[in-house]
Amino acid sequence: MMKAVVFPGDKKVEIREVPIPSPGGGEVLLKMKASAICRSDMSLYYGSDAVVGGEATKSGCIHPGHEPAGEIVQVGEGVTRFKEGDRVAVYLAVGCGECAHCKSGYKMFCPEWKCIGFDQHGGDADYMVVPAENCMRIPDGMSYLVAAVSTDAVGTLYHAQKRLAINGRDTLVIFGMGPMGGAGVMVAKGLGATVIAVDMLDERLEVAKELGADYVINGKEDVLARVMEITGGRGADAAIDCSGSPHAENTALNVLRPHGRAAFIGECRELTIHPSNQLIRKQVTVMGSWYFPIFEYDEITRFILEKGLPVEKLVSHTFPIGEAETAFRMFDERKTEKAVFIWD
Ligand SMILES: [Zn+2]
Ligand SMILES: [Zn+2]
Repeated sequence: MMKAVVFPGDKKVEIREVPIPSPGGGEVLLKMKASAICRSDMSLYYGSDAVVGGEATKSGCIHPGHEPAGEIVQVGEGVTRFKEGDRVAVYLAVGCGECAHCKSGYKMFCPEWKCIGFDQHGGDADYMVVPAENCMRIPDGMSYLVAAVSTDAVGTLYHAQKRLAINGRDTLVIFGMGPMGGAGVMVAKGLGATVIAVDMLDERLEVAKELGADYVINGKEDVLARVMEITGGRGADAAIDCSGSPHAENTALNVLRPHGRAAFIGECRELTIHPSNQLIRKQVTVMGSWYFPIFEYDEITRFILEKGLPVEKLVSHTFPIGEAETAFRMFDERKTEKAVFIWD
């Protein structure tokens, strides 16, 4: 038997004793080593409208955890490329494997995709079964903790900055200094950019400075005026919103110079903007960005190791799975930054 977390709804956390699953054809069994909590888990914790997932997600029986890493302890029939003892992180999107999107590595665009931790069991349990093709090797010299946080948090910010072509000539403004924004600061510094971090909380701005932000601005100040002052009146080359706040998203568009580029990453259901002034006159490029294609994990982990990114600094708390209730409550109350379940 093993311990597994479920969310019956209404901020309840149950730890169930369930049988250890066995891997089917093409699957592997992982003994979990690290599984990171994410803001998107809160939609399951509340039992409200989940940010992704279908009917199974609403059942309240799925083990959450879409940012997991573990050791392969059993391989199913037909698995040849992985063996017992391999250290892997898990890609969150399970696709059909056959369509153009699955073959391109962007499995989350598969029309039939299922999200680990939402539609099917995730890593907040002692063991999990995943398709071998969702396993991403962890390089030597990287801990399970860093590997787990380097999926959704660092990976998403790496992919967005690659798409924005962030480089050493850029001044990049990042809005929202939670774990995503913090990861964004690290990645941007690794790419050589000048980074301006924006948040409403001074504590988070302090963390941003430690992670390498060149300038910090409290959102209560006139952010546009401060960015103009820092950039000598030119405006920022690029902006990323990790907050999902309509006000921050508008400010992200406003701080851009002509031909500037922006990415929205924080989940946001509705936003009012002014295209004439914010987009058209300045000929800016705005994109949404979410997660990364599976082949990019090798590049992401290599970048982290080569640039020495201090990914573990994003993690303020670790918990054993038996303390899941405390972990989710503290995370929900924003008493933690990135919080991660770990096993010995
Ligand atoms: Zn996540
Ligand atoms: Zn597919």
